[in-house]
Amino acid sequence: MESRRRDHEELAQEVLGLLLPHTGGAFRVGITGVPGVGKSTFIDQFGTDLTQEGRKVAVLAVDPTSQRTGGSILGDKTRMAQLAFDDNAFVRPSPAGATLGGVTRTTRETILVCEAAGFDVVLVETVGVGQSETIVAEMVDFFLVLMIAGAGDELQGIKKGVLELADMIAVNKADGDNVARAKAAAADYRRALHLTQPTSPTWNPPVVTCSAVEDVGLDEIWQQIRIHRAKLDATGELHAKRQDQQIRWMWSMVDDRVVERFRSTPDVMAIVDELEADLRAGRVTATVAAERLLAAGRAR
Ligand code: GDP
Repeated sequence: MESRRRDHEELAQEVLGLLLPHTGGAFRVGITGVPGVGKSTFIDQFGTDLTQEGRKVAVLAVDPTSQRTGGSILGDKTRMAQLAFDDNAFVRPSPAGATLGGVTRTTRETILVCEAAGFDVVLVETVGVGQSETIVAEMVDFFLVLMIAGAGDELQGIKKGVLELADMIAVNKADGDNVARAKAAAADYRRALHLTQPTSPTWNPPVVTCSAVEDVGLDEIWQQIRIHRAKLDATGELHAKRQDQQIRWMWSMVDDRVVERFRSTPDVMAIVDELEADLRAGRVTATVAAERLLAAGRAR
């Protein structure tokens, strides 16, 4: 699935087509949070709790920073020490060296392969950087946002966008003398969530505290994921949500491909540098420059 060799891609699509009837069975859960919030500790413990219940857990990662370093920090065996060696778990780092679009495609398709392979929980981890949160929220049923009680101003630095994506917020590291601060932060997030549009008419995102290190509150999170699933199943929303995700995904691939092809058109390439220079120098407006490019692209 991850290979970018043309013949592999074709084979992968063929295999996926055959697997499709066996997909769709998993809880697809996205997990985000800034570096240091405790994502790997959380996933390691949460996943282990689930495999101990007899579930099979796959952990995938979408890490845009791995494109720069050429190797992913996510999924490193030392980060999920229990889960990485658990026979009922599969931990896969973010594919390295691909474009964000490539990582997105691979991860979406790997979710399907994991489902066909019998994994009933697929956790997709992402760092809270750039576009990756929206991308992951678009491929899962449930989006869990991990937070920690910050120093003082709880709501500083939270992108409003992430609250809009959240199906649940868990304030991690609620242990030791941090419990009260975590609870206060949870109350702040609860208030902030009231100001955002809920992700579904039948679901009000809960805000809880947890401790990944002490395995406290993780069962409540799993319970909420199951309630969410039952509710959205009952209303047909889950099915519709997955369908809508597929449609948007198809168009986003078309958009990418069309733009890519357009940009590599010789007539476009012939004038693009000059137009960009004109634009930088203020000799032309962006609208006029765009129209010239479009006209050049059409000429062929
Ligand atoms: P990530 O960057 O989001 O994957 O965060 P890590 O899982 O690597 O955790 C960052 C640090 O926070 C590590 O030192 C963890 O041991 C610590 N940590 C993670 N979860 C908890 C928790 O529930 N309580 C406490 N006290 N520390 C935690």
